[in-house]
Amino acid sequence: MSIHLPVFKYHRDPVHSGSVLKSNNRCRCCGISRGYVYAGPVYAVEELDESICPWCIAEGSAHTKFDATFIDDAALPEGLPDAVIEEVAWRTPGYSAWQSERWFSCCNDAMTFLEPAGIAEVREHYRELEFNILGNIIYDLQISGGAAKRVLESLDKNSGPTAYVFQCSHCGVYQTFVDGIFDVSV
Ligand SMILES: [Zn+2]
Ligand SMILES: [Zn+2]
Repeated sequence: MSIHLPVFKYHRDPVHSGSVLKSNNRCRCCGISRGYVYAGPVYAVEELDESICPWCIAEGSAHTKFDATFIDDAALPEGLPDAVIEEVAWRTPGYSAWQSERWFSCCNDAMTFLEPAGIAEVREHYRELEFNILGNIIYDLQISGGAAKRVLESLDKNSGPTAYVFQCSHCGVYQTFVDGIFDVSV
């Protein structure tokens, strides 16, 4: 019997992305061990790492009970309707970046987070984005020339640096950024 996880408009598949893990931990919000817990960042007074189930995120009860958000306020895109911002911050699983996560908007809506990707995932699933990601490295991180190419080739979803992939649910456009812990001598 398979368990159907809640559907999140702004996070396509939190199990695939690694933000939700299989776990027998009991959820601190509903008190039930439901087989999955959220493993991404939690911004709350209480320590809630790997102790909230995805259903309590989707229903908003984890936000209400612990005043928790799952995405850093500073990462939220500006200029969106409050209802969208609340859904992203309060009722959507976030994801872990190396330094600071970001979230993007398009078509007057928040974009949907797809996954953290290494160069293998980029070349397998998002080949057309390789040039954009090289642009992220050159323009956002200000790494140029051969060093930029080496960072591109070293992208890894687990050990970093990592490319984070978003897609607009309206027009289908992708957005990416790269984050990692960089040696200044790169
Ligand atoms: Zn729960
Ligand atoms: Zn769009």
